[in-house]
Amino acid sequence: MKLYYQALKTSEVSKRVFSSLNTRNTRKYSPQTSPTDFRRLVITISLLIFALIGVACRADNGDPHPPELMVGSDVCEECGMVISDARYAAATLIEDGHTHKFDDLAEMFIFQAKHPEDVVRAWFVHDYEAETWIRGETAFYVLSEMIHSPMGYGVVAFETRTAADAFATDLADAQIFTFDELNAWMKTRAQ
Ligand SMILES: [Zn+2]
Repeated sequence: MKLYYQALKTSEVSKRVFSSLNTRNTRKYSPQTSPTDFRRLVITISLLIFALIGVACRADNGDPHPPELMVGSDVCEECGMVISDARYAAATLIEDGHTHKFDDLAEMFIFQAKHPEDVVRAWFVHDYEAETWIRGETAFYVLSEMIHSPMGYGVVAFETRTAADAFATDLADAQIFTFDELNAWMKTRAQ
């Protein structure tokens, strides 16, 4: 009886020792990822994420890009009409990343004057002759009643002062404005 008890006790002890060894073995030699490896993996992934964010931020701080213009399907933010003539199109890039597009560049100034909560990061207008995006801030604008823009404001943009002057010579009532001058003038019309 005593022997049996001792044998039982020994087997119980050995079972406990074996199981504890087994647990330790499992922890130590598990083919699965160990806590150290896992920590390294987390650090590596975090560093990669930070690096990607860094690259994205740097790209974001570069020159702002104009939006893609879909003539015939994009809708003007101010009047709701389809943008059908690229020569008069305009767009703003807002600080939060969204864009507004306009069918008549004058409406860009009017819309932004009405919505000061949308802080403009970049202004874009189409060069009247090239029909490509140029920066609105550095463009030259020709105003004339003889220019029939989609909403009747009679304003077109040019990349150079020379091009604006050349276009204006054929229009008796033409006025040439810089961005700031046109912006100030349009603000009075937005009220
Ligand atoms: Zn419009």
